[in-house]
Amino acid sequence: MVQNFIDGSVQPVSPARPGEPGGGVLELIDPATGKRRGEVAGATAGDVDRAVAAARAAFPAWSAMAASKRSEILLRLADLIDGNLDELAKAECLDSGKPIFVCRSVDIPRSAANFRYFAQAVLHTTGQWHQYDGAGVQGARPAMNFTLRSPRGVAGLISPWNLPLYLLTWKIAPALATGNTAVCKPSELTPTTATMLAELGNAAGLPPGVLNIVHGTGQPVGSGIVTHPDVPTVSFTGSTGVGKWIAREAGDRLKRVSLELGGKNPFVVYADADLDVAAETACRAMFSNQGQICLCGSRLVVHKSVKEAFLQRLLAHVAAIRPGDPMEPATRYGTLISQAHREKVERYVAVARELGGRVLCGGERPQADALPPRVRGGFYYLPTIIDGLAPDCAVEQEEIFGPVVSVQSFEDDEQAVALANGTSYGLAASIWTRDLQRAHRAAAEIHAGIVWVNCWMVRDLRTPFGGAKQSGVGREGGMEAINFFTEPKNVCVGL
Ligand code: NAD
Repeated sequence: MVQNFIDGSVQPVSPARPGEPGGGVLELIDPATGKRRGEVAGATAGDVDRAVAAARAAFPAWSAMAASKRSEILLRLADLIDGNLDELAKAECLDSGKPIFVCRSVDIPRSAANFRYFAQAVLHTTGQWHQYDGAGVQGARPAMNFTLRSPRGVAGLISPWNLPLYLLTWKIAPALATGNTAVCKPSELTPTTATMLAELGNAAGLPPGVLNIVHGTGQPVGSGIVTHPDVPTVSFTGSTGVGKWIAREAGDRLKRVSLELGGKNPFVVYADADLDVAAETACRAMFSNQGQICLCGSRLVVHKSVKEAFLQRLLAHVAAIRPGDPMEPATRYGTLISQAHREKVERYVAVARELGGRVLCGGERPQADALPPRVRGGFYYLPTIIDGLAPDCAVEQEEIFGPVVSVQSFEDDEQAVALANGTSYGLAASIWTRDLQRAHRAAAEIHAGIVWVNCWMVRDLRTPFGGAKQSGVGREGGMEAINFFTEPKNVCVGL
C-alpha cells in the first residue's frame, strides 16, 4: 500500500465517504503483466488541507534556515537516493513498465542529480543591483537599488507518470533549496517512489512538513492543491488540457504557475546530415520509454533526396528493438503505461490507416509468443512509423505520446521550418545538418523552447527547460527555476 506522507509520517487511509470525492484506495496495475499489484491511498480534500497546513507550519523555520544548511540536507537526500538505487528503480519499473535498465541508469540517477544540482546552485547565485543617477528627471535624487529574493511559501507540485521521480524531483529540488515547502502529487499511476522519497527525506534530516505527498486522481487531489488559498505557487507537468484548466483556476486566484505540457516534436534531417548518426539517434529519440517522453521526436521531417536512405537506416535500428520483460536487465523496450493509453495509441494508428497512411513498421501489439510468458498480458505496442499522411491531419497534429511517428518530407529549408513549426505545440526540435549556417538559421526560426542540433535529449540542468505555444508557460531549470520559486523585492536606497 502506498500511503500519503504528511508532516513527516505516512498516514492512515482516509475512508471514502458517499458523495465526497477521494478517500479509500485506488488499484495499482502492473503495466507489464496487466495484473493488479497493489493499492495507493486516495487523498481527500481533508488530506490536502492537512498537507498544506503542515507545509505552511514548516515554512517559517525552513525558509529561515541558512541556505548552506538546507543544501547539506538536500545533498544527503541525493546520497540516500543513490544508496537506495535498487529499491527505487524496482519500484519505478513496477509502476511504469519501463525497463529496469532505464530506471537504474536514467530515472533514479537523474533524481539524485536534481537535488545535487539545486542544493549547490542556490549557494552560487548572484544578486541584481542598479545604480540610479536620476539623470533627466527634474529633482530626482540618485539612488542605489538592490533586489532581494525570498521563497514564496507552500509550492504545489504536480507531475505525470512518464518520468515519475525524475520529474517530481525536478520540481521539489529547486522549491526546497530556495526555502519553500511543498505539497506534491505524483501521478496516481506511478505513486510509489514519491512516498519512498519522502521517507528518505526524513532520514536526510528534512524537518516534518517540508515535503508532503498526497496521492490520488486529478480531482479532488490535484485540483485541491491548485485551488487551495494557501498555495501561492503551482508547478505542473502534464497534458495541455489539464494545464489549461490549471491556468484558468490559477488565473482567477492570481497564483504563479509554471506549466510544462505536451509536445509534437519534429526530428528534422537535412540532405547534408550524417545519416548514420542521425538514424541511430532518431531511433532513440522516437522510441525511448516507448515514445512516452514529452521530448520524443514524433514527426520525422526529412529532405526528399535522402528520405529513402534515411528510412532504410532508421528501420534497421527499429527492427532491432525487442520488447521484453521490464524487470530483465537486458530489456530496453518495455510497455505502455496502461490499457487505456494503449487503446488511445491504437485509435490513432487506426485513423492513420483510414487516412491512407502506410505503416512502415509496427502498427500492432507484439505477438504473444515474442514475449516472455510472465508479461504476455502487458500493455505492449510495437514501435510504429507511418508515411504518407497529410501534415494537417489529426495524427500529425495531436500528441499521441506513444511509439508512433509520422514521416513528412521537404524540398527546401523554408519548407523544413514550416513543417517543423506546423503544429500548435512548441516543446522541442532536433535538427540534423553539417551546415553551420543552416543550423543557426533553423534554430532561430523554429518556434520551440528547446532546439537540439545534431543531438537529442542532452540535458544540462543549468539551461532553461520548457515549451512555447501549447507546450506550456514558463521555464524550469537553472536560474529559471530559482527565480520561479522566489519573489523578487527591489529595495531602493536614496543617496
Ligand atoms: P495529465 O495531465 O493527465 O496528468 C498529470 C498530473 O496532473 C497527474 O498527476 C494527474 O493526476 C494530475 N491532474 C489531472 N487532472 C488534474 C487537475 N484538474 N488539477 C490538478 N492536477 C490534475 O498527464 P499525464 O497523462 O499524467 O502525462 C502525460 C502528459 O504529460 C503528456 O501530455 C506529456 O507531453 C506531458 N509531459 C510534459 C512534459 C514537459 O516537460 N513538457 C514532461 C512529461 C510529460
